[in-house]
Amino acid sequence: AGGTSAGGGHVNICAHRGFWNCADAGHAQNSIASLGLAQEFGFWGSEFDVQMTKDCFLVVNHDGDINGKSIHDNNYEDIKDELLSNGEKLATLSQYLEQGKKSKTVMELEIKGAGSPERDSIATMLTLQALKDHKVFDPKRVEFQAFSFQVCKLLARYAPGFSCLYLEGDLSPEEIHKEGLNGIAYSKHVFMNHPEWVQDAKARGIKTDVWTINEPDDMRYFVEAGLDQIESDYPLVLREVLGELEEKAK
Ligand code: MG
Repeated sequence: AGGTSAGGGHVNICAHRGFWNCADAGHAQNSIASLGLAQEFGFWGSEFDVQMTKDCFLVVNHDGDINGKSIHDNNYEDIKDELLSNGEKLATLSQYLEQGKKSKTVMELEIKGAGSPERDSIATMLTLQALKDHKVFDPKRVEFQAFSFQVCKLLARYAPGFSCLYLEGDLSPEEIHKEGLNGIAYSKHVFMNHPEWVQDAKARGIKTDVWTINEPDDMRYFVEAGLDQIESDYPLVLREVLGELEEKAK
């Protein structure tokens, strides 16, 4: 039970951009409805993107703009009534965290570039403060990811017990470890080019995540490879694949 391969075992299922890309989902990425649905389905985690407005207000949205309006270049007041494709208003980080508190599904927060290194730092520190304000400053409830190395370093320093997955994909586990970071989330090609990195990361206590894995064959490959978690637009398909593999292993 649970063991799907020598290196495999349990794989965390993380719904990418909430849980939006299926017929029953909230139909809008990074919508509160899509987080609610991910929670209802009991996925291990649900991934969201944190963006900061010009006046340093945090919202969750995948793209840097909403309905053509740049989040970075507008004050919150000027975009707060913009609607997502499911009719929901653009969600604030606060609203998102309040929904997140309703279940055990881990909030996988990607801190997006906020326009400059200085603003990236502000967005990171404000995110940590928001977690404390909402009483979810808890490594069991929240995990981070970021393309910015600087953001990952800040998180390692100010949120040391938390997993933070570096997204850039050009550093080996050895280099990541040397830099004091504790996680990687790379695209499938990186892990396919460096299959030894998965076990190397495990040996160094570095968490491994692969995104965005949407084809069943790729899902099987990465479960067998022993990744800690898989991020997918189709988490229900991934759940089915995991079930099949576990059945086979019995
Ligand atoms: Mg993201």
